[in-house]
Amino acid sequence: MSEVTTFIPLARVSIDEEQEQAVLEVLRSGLIAQGPVVEQLERLMEAITGASHAVAVSSGTTALELALRAAGIGPGDEVITAPITFGATLNAILHTGATARFADVGSEGNVDPAAVAALVNSSTAALLPVHLYGNPAPMPELEQLAARYGLAIIEDSAQAIGAAIDGRGAGSFGLGCFSLYATKNITSAEGGVITTSSPELAAELRLLRNQGMSGRYEYARVGFNARMTDVHAALAVPHLRRVHEITTARRLNAQRLNGGLAGLPRLTLPAITSNPHHVFHQYTIRLDSPQLRTQVTEELTSAGIGYGLIYPQVVYDYDCYRRHPAVVADPVPKAEELVSTALSLPVHPHLTDWEVERIVTAVRAAVVG
Ligand SMILES: *Cc1c(COP(=O)(O)O)cnc(C)c1O
Repeated sequence: MSEVTTFIPLARVSIDEEQEQAVLEVLRSGLIAQGPVVEQLERLMEAITGASHAVAVSSGTTALELALRAAGIGPGDEVITAPITFGATLNAILHTGATARFADVGSEGNVDPAAVAALVNSSTAALLPVHLYGNPAPMPELEQLAARYGLAIIEDSAQAIGAAIDGRGAGSFGLGCFSLYATKNITSAEGGVITTSSPELAAELRLLRNQGMSGRYEYARVGFNARMTDVHAALAVPHLRRVHEITTARRLNAQRLNGGLAGLPRLTLPAITSNPHHVFHQYTIRLDSPQLRTQVTEELTSAGIGYGLIYPQVVYDYDCYRRHPAVVADPVPKAEELVSTALSLPVHPHLTDWEVERIVTAVRAAVVG
């Protein structure tokens, strides 16, 4: 009976013995900063994404900042991004001095290529789509747009490690920016990775990461310290080796949730397809009204089940951004509607069948009454 009252968190961080062992080895080696384990991590990320180069950095946010800089984005440039995203995406754009524009979204929350196309003008320099919840953005269409207008592509792949569309990995269409934050599908506690198929961009990123130095005290750029440590890399490497197994567990839980919630009125379930290959960083349903969403969240709370409003507002809808001279508050009615009705439920790989059952029961009770 005690199981009934156990809280089911939206995300669960669980470090296994293999990870503990890998971290211990680094600690005992005496080489704890950036070294061979970071290199192992980079090779694994190349294999996972299909991009020919991976550069590990200190966070997903840093990955976005360095990618934008390596792409030459700065003052006078416009970057078209997603309105439903984490503040990091927008912060990274604004720190380069570029102007942020927002394209409205399709039914699953990713940017709509037609809305992106409508924003392109002579100042546009880059597209920065977000693979929201681990579901790939419509990259083939965005890639065509970028080619037509000579735009850089930077993919916010923070939630999308292992995701793919048309057999191509998220992060392989342009500069892929991944996060290894604690609650992401794979974690190094804090960490990030940039992927690219351009050897020149990879070399530039490696310079920027390490104080702009091409050799010891040979400064070639005004750089950063954006390095990852081997201690952090050691946490992620064992799980990167079995990323497919971890993703499969998430997709299986999504399938179980979809099965349990199928046929209910007034809600829309996420599609689970082989293409695009969604890695379910979040399992997000849509209710047909904000009121119904409140009913469901109240039921979840009384049933001891965690949930997420991801994200509660469109990203620029805060005073610090609305007042910012480099933020253009493009109208995004579909995104506004989605953020008021979307609800993320636990889908992490540690869920038991019984926990999935409890989540389904609570949502059903709230929706059917
Ligand atoms: C997590 C996340 C980031 C930032 O990654 P950090 O590693 O936390 O800096 C950026 N964008 C999105 C969409 C994210 O989910």
